[in-house]
Amino acid sequence: MPISRILIANRGEIALRIHRAAREMGIETVAVHSTADADAMHVRLADHAVCIGPPPASESYLNIANIIAAAEIAGCDAIHPGYGFLSENAKFAEIVEAHDLVWIGPKPEHIRTMGDKVAAKATAGALGLPLVPGSSGAVDTVDDARRIAAEIGYPVLVKAASGGGGRGMKVVPDEGQLETLMSQARSEAKSAFGDDTVYIEKYLGNPRHIEFQIFGDGRGQAIHLGERDCSLQRRHQKVLEEAPSPVLSPDERERMGRICAEAMAQMGYRGAGTIEFLWENGAFYFIEMNTRLQVEHPVTEMITGIDLVREQIRVADGKDLSCRQEDIRFEGHAIECRINAEDPWTFAPSPGAVTYYHAAGGMHVRVDSGLYAGYRIPPYYDSMIAKLIVYGRDRDRCIMRLRRALDEMVIEGVKTSIPLHQALLDQPDVLSGGYSIKWLEEWLQERSAKPA
Ligand code: ADP
Repeated sequence: MPISRILIANRGEIALRIHRAAREMGIETVAVHSTADADAMHVRLADHAVCIGPPPASESYLNIANIIAAAEIAGCDAIHPGYGFLSENAKFAEIVEAHDLVWIGPKPEHIRTMGDKVAAKATAGALGLPLVPGSSGAVDTVDDARRIAAEIGYPVLVKAASGGGGRGMKVVPDEGQLETLMSQARSEAKSAFGDDTVYIEKYLGNPRHIEFQIFGDGRGQAIHLGERDCSLQRRHQKVLEEAPSPVLSPDERERMGRICAEAMAQMGYRGAGTIEFLWENGAFYFIEMNTRLQVEHPVTEMITGIDLVREQIRVADGKDLSCRQEDIRFEGHAIECRINAEDPWTFAPSPGAVTYYHAAGGMHVRVDSGLYAGYRIPPYYDSMIAKLIVYGRDRDRCIMRLRRALDEMVIEGVKTSIPLHQALLDQPDVLSGGYSIKWLEEWLQERSAKPA
């Protein structure tokens, strides 16, 4: 039986995004929500809605028992997890399948492997993806660390195997500081993740973040949909993403894309995934794989014309991929700005009532957001309230249109990061595409050091 009713185990813009794809496929949707989200747009638009708990995510959007119960009560036959929350929880995926519900996501064993950094790196290496030089697994003793670091050369990076969000990570400039920094990384990892396993990598000085979107049918067919450049980051959080990357040639895209797609075909990967690389001086280095839809997926949709959520639902339903690699054309340029409810310069969260809202419009402008005038942004969740995605025939025209669209967006009642994006689009390094993952933080520091 084809999927006819999907429970969306998420909130905000991504819940809406999934609802929209389902609706366009003639599939009904069931929204779940915390008591803090009773008035949210995803709840209003879905065909049905079920309250699954109080505001804290641990008691609602992460509450597996309540979500499964909601799916059964509402007569759903599938669950889409969106991103964040339970999307990369292999156990949840298994529970969903054990309840005879279709899991709109990768196979649980692939989620598990890629969620373990050491296993992910070993798997990526075995599948032919280029790795950052480093230890081939966990490093137990300082002597081993010394030997490996001497081989790959300083500076090196000590990383927590269970790491996330950059925690448990230390840059070691020279051998003299290895022992101290390694033990610091270990104790940080122990207290943050309950696991003090660490490994070692060469520290790349000034890389870009370039990731490939891939898609598999779970039966040995896989394609790639090109790359996204997400180098503009603050504290490992992406701020603005673009496709294609300003630094890749069509040949490099084709070569790396093919390596990624072949790896996924060999793995038997199912659904959407993102393979993240650092890129420096023309070389790619695998850092991690995300086994889910990404926040920044719309820039890929804009330049390929492919609806990634529709594709996820089709593949979960056992259908073939809707296109072959040779059918995919990369046309034009797209940029996404993540608009957060926060002070644009101090980044302090700014939840509260939105008193007025006007979304940008016009040709090639897309706004993914659950905002409306009168909506109260709850303080409990991620501060991202909208994504502004703009397409242009080339990068320059995309930027001109993005400036115009940012000027049109009006969000009153709370502070937003719109002024940050406007300022970014005046920076020569952003206009030329000549930035690395360090650029944004350095620019913010210089800016705050200047007298007002
Ligand atoms: P986490 O899961 O903690 O976010 P990642 O492995 O994804 O860990 O790394 C987080 C960030 O740290 C990367 O996006 C990159 O900015 C930086 N980073 C990771 N590995 C390296 C490396 N070998 N050299 C330089 N920077 C790195």
